[in-house]
Amino acid sequence: MPPESPYPMISIEEALAIIQRQARPLPAVTLAFQDALGYVLAEDVFADESMPPFAASSVDGFAVVAADGPGLRRVVGDQAAGYIADVRVESGTAARVTTGAPVPAGADAVVMVEQTELSDGQVDILTNDIQPGSNVRSIGQDIESGQLVLAGGTVLGPAELGLLGTVGRAEVTVYRRPTVAVMSTGDEIVEPHEKPQPGQIRDSNRFTLMSVVRQAGAKPLDLGIVRDKTGSLGEIIERGLSKADALLTSGGVSMGQLDLVKPYLASRGTVHFGRVNTKPGKPVTFATVDGKPCFAMPGFPVSALVSFEVFVRPALLKMAGHSQIYRPREQATLAHHFKHAAERTEFQRVVLTRRLDGTLIASSTGFQGSGRLLSMSGANGLVILPRGQGDFEAGSVVEALLISRVEMEMAEGTAPIQGV
Ligand code: AMP
Ligand code: MG
Repeated sequence: MPPESPYPMISIEEALAIIQRQARPLPAVTLAFQDALGYVLAEDVFADESMPPFAASSVDGFAVVAADGPGLRRVVGDQAAGYIADVRVESGTAARVTTGAPVPAGADAVVMVEQTELSDGQVDILTNDIQPGSNVRSIGQDIESGQLVLAGGTVLGPAELGLLGTVGRAEVTVYRRPTVAVMSTGDEIVEPHEKPQPGQIRDSNRFTLMSVVRQAGAKPLDLGIVRDKTGSLGEIIERGLSKADALLTSGGVSMGQLDLVKPYLASRGTVHFGRVNTKPGKPVTFATVDGKPCFAMPGFPVSALVSFEVFVRPALLKMAGHSQIYRPREQATLAHHFKHAAERTEFQRVVLTRRLDGTLIASSTGFQGSGRLLSMSGANGLVILPRGQGDFEAGSVVEALLISRVEMEMAEGTAPIQGV
């Protein structure tokens, strides 16, 4: 009888549901708002005053009484931006104003300088298209005092940081981002600067995994390479758990005698699953120790990276307070024949391009071996070839996960926006 894994094989859906039940947003922290780019807001932010806070001119020109219509006016003063000038506009008069200046008392419209002519202390208004409020931004036109400006759960991008500046929120409460302790395991793994001895290979997983952790907005903590010995493995895992919010390992989760990660995690906490019906990444493992999520990736470089993409990234986003945690999924048309074995759902690495008519075309990155990291290089999509079906013919339509930017397929020199 061949040895059997003690862990039942579960579906991808079940695995994702289990992870979602265990991963929770981290406690909120207070940050200087300038440092909060990419964080998720943990409070509602309200406007402390109106925007604009005073009636402001939206052009450089002359403040007038709209009812006067076109014709000559006496210029009674200047109002630039930044203060309140002692100037009052009455019927038959005008005051010079700049963009962003308070509209002087008595005026109800501004005529842009391009529609005026100035001579001898008088301005000639050349347009008859003047209504009360022309070229005036009224109080609260953009934001009303007391208004909800940013709701808790909002991801802070450039516009949101600007809004925090507008409403004077020098400090802001956001969800903390997870620190993730990352380690490689294996007696054969050496550092990239080392010359591998016979039987050894250089580490790649730690570098791919720390990079995707960073791309997910979390902070990697490098635990180095750990040998396949229970003692050292346990020691380094404990160090990681004491300093980080989550643990991410690679290697040592298969069926070998020196695959010690699962047994160690089981001795310290709960292993929620240890096998998923997916390719690559079947032995992917998820545990919690002292409430902290522990993700054990298989050692094959593609398995490690694809398993991170499918199972770990959504959890890290949830821990950082995000509610949109899954990659977009879209129908893609296969550019050629794809080989696929029917037993397991397979994530194949592809280059996706967008045709001008909107269709998404998927081309394979070549040989899909789990050790061939080159099949991930340049890939911006994973096509999902579902279990239960064999090979896929060219032109078949399948679901694809968009894992990075999709470029438009366009002739060189074509304008990106046309006919508008
Ligand atoms: P394992 O999951 O430990 O059985 O490893 C599966 C395969 O992945 C083996 O061929 C390992 O040599 C390889 N591997 C494990 N860890 C790494 C790593 N950090 N970098 C590159 N290859 C690795
Ligand atoms: Mg190993």
